[in-house]
Amino acid sequence: MKKHNYSAGPCILPKEVFEKSAQAILNFNNSDLSILEISHRSKDFVAVMDEARVLVLELLGLEGKGYQALFLQGGASLEFLMVPYNLMKVDGKAAYLDTGTWANNAIKEAKHFGETVVVASSKEQNYNFIPKDYSIPTDASYFHCTSNNTIFGTQMKSFPETNVPVVCDMSSDIFSRTLDFSKFDLIYAGAQKNMGPAGTTLVVVKEEILGKSGRTIPSMLDYEKHIKAESMYNTPAVFPVYASLLTLQWLKNLGGIPAIEKINEAKANLLYTEIDRNPLFKGTAAVEDRSNMNATFLLENPEHQETFDKMWKEAGISGLAGHRSVGGYRASMYNALPLESVQVLVDVMQKLEEVFSVQSQLAE
Ligand SMILES: *Cc1c(COP(=O)(O)O)cnc(C)c1O
Repeated sequence: MKKHNYSAGPCILPKEVFEKSAQAILNFNNSDLSILEISHRSKDFVAVMDEARVLVLELLGLEGKGYQALFLQGGASLEFLMVPYNLMKVDGKAAYLDTGTWANNAIKEAKHFGETVVVASSKEQNYNFIPKDYSIPTDASYFHCTSNNTIFGTQMKSFPETNVPVVCDMSSDIFSRTLDFSKFDLIYAGAQKNMGPAGTTLVVVKEEILGKSGRTIPSMLDYEKHIKAESMYNTPAVFPVYASLLTLQWLKNLGGIPAIEKINEAKANLLYTEIDRNPLFKGTAAVEDRSNMNATFLLENPEHQETFDKMWKEAGISGLAGHRSVGGYRASMYNALPLESVQVLVDVMQKLEEVFSVQSQLAE
């Protein structure tokens, strides 16, 4: 049975990406060799890396604007410390917006390097909204924010206007919506939410912000060294980069970010309309800050849980359990999740309402 995969990450990828990457493991580019057994310096793989880096900038509309795309390792979590290492001036400070677990982890790492100013936080309300009234110190080396809070189901709909360089963790909504990406000076994203398998991290950086921190940076943590080596300073994550390229090609053929954005909006509208309409459910995030990628919701009555869980599992839905820090349910609707899968979930929610309204009528 076909699964409707709502996993928060690693997560669903397009079917053709699975098929083509399976083929490349058996016979890559008709070379009679597997992609897993060739040199990362071979002509065929260098072409993969080059195309992936070009396609990233093309899809984001950043070609020819002084940006570089890198495929690194260590996950988004390593970027939490690479960012301050490369950008926070010695004796300088950095500004952070605290919108959830991942933002908090980024703040923790920045503190190893210098003064870390948290300009606003929604922690007191279990991160169920995005703070909007705050000011960014003009002498900060950079401002860091998280565009989509994977765990708490909130998403920044606008970004502050500032002269300070803007750094954004876009792990869970990169390539999902149109934005003026040139407003960001550094964007990073672990591949496994919306771009590919786990094992590589995308970094998109405006070159002119580098080399100004006054720090001596170890080679593997130095963006400038990775740029110079064209993401091959050491052996890159060959297979995750290849599968990411396939996903980027899939997105381009679909019509790029504007096309997927329409589909993502349709999916989110369908689900949120049902969450708001159905008396058995309630959303956990402030309506204006709701994420189009991760919808978090609860049952009004926890006694319905057993029945609901049985029903969605029987419908072929997978990965719907909420993160332990929010509880309830989380429907992750990344780019590759089809609209039909959301319809299946909405149908189950409506069936649950029917089941319990029949039961309460019988009880009367
Ligand atoms: C998952 C996630 C991370 C952590 O990514 P890793 O690649 O596992 O280090 C960081 N930030 C956000 C927003 C995430 O969703």
